[in-house]
Amino acid sequence: MTIHIPTIFLIIIATAGTLTLSVGSVTRAKEQKELLLWTIGLALHTLVYILFFLRGQIPAFFSVLVANAALSASYSFFTAAIGEFLHRRISKVLLVGPPLVLAVIFPFLMDDISARIIVSCLIFSIQCAWALSILMNRKRVVSGRGKYLVVAGLTVIIAVLSVRVLSVIIKPGDISSMLHQTPVQVATFFGAFMSLILLSNGFVLMIKERADEHILQMAMKDRLTGVWNRVRLEEEAPQEIAKLERYGHPTSLLMVDLDHFKQVNDKYGHATGDLVLKEFCAVVQSCIRTTDILARWGGEEFVVLLPNSGFASSAPLAERIRSAVEKHEFPYGLSVTTSIGIASCQPSDSWSSWLDRADQALYRAKSTGRNRVEVENTPTQSDTSKTNIVELVWRPAYESGNAVIDAQHRALLEHSNILLQAILDNRDKSGISKLVDCLISAIEQHFNDEETILQKAGYLDCKHHIELHAKLIERARRLSKLFFDGQVSESELLHFIMYEMVTQHILIEDRKYFPML
Ligand code: GH3
Ligand code: MG
Ligand code: MG
Repeated sequence: MTIHIPTIFLIIIATAGTLTLSVGSVTRAKEQKELLLWTIGLALHTLVYILFFLRGQIPAFFSVLVANAALSASYSFFTAAIGEFLHRRISKVLLVGPPLVLAVIFPFLMDDISARIIVSCLIFSIQCAWALSILMNRKRVVSGRGKYLVVAGLTVIIAVLSVRVLSVIIKPGDISSMLHQTPVQVATFFGAFMSLILLSNGFVLMIKERADEHILQMAMKDRLTGVWNRVRLEEEAPQEIAKLERYGHPTSLLMVDLDHFKQVNDKYGHATGDLVLKEFCAVVQSCIRTTDILARWGGEEFVVLLPNSGFASSAPLAERIRSAVEKHEFPYGLSVTTSIGIASCQPSDSWSSWLDRADQALYRAKSTGRNRVEVENTPTQSDTSKTNIVELVWRPAYESGNAVIDAQHRALLEHSNILLQAILDNRDKSGISKLVDCLISAIEQHFNDEETILQKAGYLDCKHHIELHAKLIERARRLSKLFFDGQVSESELLHFIMYEMVTQHILIEDRKYFPML
């Protein structure tokens, strides 16, 4: 079977032209600069293959020099579009340079097709590799699958261009003209055709996926304040309840309501009230962790969902929020206060019963004078007034499959419980400090043993795991010293060591290697 090269050119012209028209017709030039740049790249591609198709029928200046410079410019436009999509500044010199270099060099190579092929293919390959590196940049991660189509498209181009260069180097006379029908020629232009489709579908898909994500975010965000809305909260809360049931992860909820907010609106107007709400959210955001969820429940009422937090950390946090809002100077020098109710999730809780208890605590904060934090009334509260952790218990989810690691994990839980009991028994500070240091040393010893086991087993993520261990030990030692110097509370230190370092680490990081053992 013979494959006629000009026929492939015609197919590429029809495809690139159709893509130019279809992508161009849905592009809003002002808002979608990346699509506009892509459309120009496609239009140039169409032009290039028209010029290639007319090789021999029009002056070589157009079908050789202009066509190759335009093909290079087309890759520059694709690269610029990817840069624009990623909001990344792309050097104009690097975009304009390749087509210019081709335009300058080609007049000297008009009689030597092999040299032209080598020079142009190298320049196109470098351009595609650059686009690839921009797209794969780790700092600007592109989510979604469209990216992989673009990556595939660029890889196909680089592959066929490499084969083309190699074939010319190995057999210099093999390609005697652009329309010469050889297997390498057919592979090159089929590759060009496939890559055109992969690149364009991929790029349009990347844009669509980002728009979808944006719409999803918008559907879950409050328009005025930009914080999450009820939808997101009601999606997240059941997951936290499930984690509590499954792994015993404590989780708390703050119900936060602005005090006498109606008066702000009445005195300063609704627009000022809106500004206050926005700034209030910024103040709360500055107090919470990135993993916490601040959501607008409605009106001037907000909910903060605190994963991995019992009263030991949620109560100080609520107090920090209350105090930060009280101290903050709002627009027009306004002062605003908040009342906060806290409820920690119980194993028997549903979302509404949990929320209800936070609401009741908020009601008490309001009725006892406002600008206050109130903790829910629960039967277990007296047990947990000192710390949210009552006792660490071994769970099936902790089992790794390695006897040594499991024995050490169990010992660490027991060790932690001894420390906990000492705190509940009101042991003095130096006694607690000694126990803490002892526990940190035991954890360090376990980390060392675990690292040896993982290294022997060839655990791929071992390096990252060792780094995590080092960070945990370093932070624990620092907190322990701060605790001894009176700069960190007992509950904060305990929360970190018992919760983040022992149970959390086993359940989240260690579990990643469990399947391997
Ligand atoms: P309390 O201390 O008991 O909470 O008193 P309050 O005045 O804050 O509570 P109340 O429920 O009586 O009033 C809430 C006010 O919040 C009334 C409403 O106009 C105002 N509000 C609710 N949503 C918005 C909003 O989006 N923008 C503005 N500016 N005001 C809002
Ligand atoms: Mg209010
Ligand atoms: Mg209210």
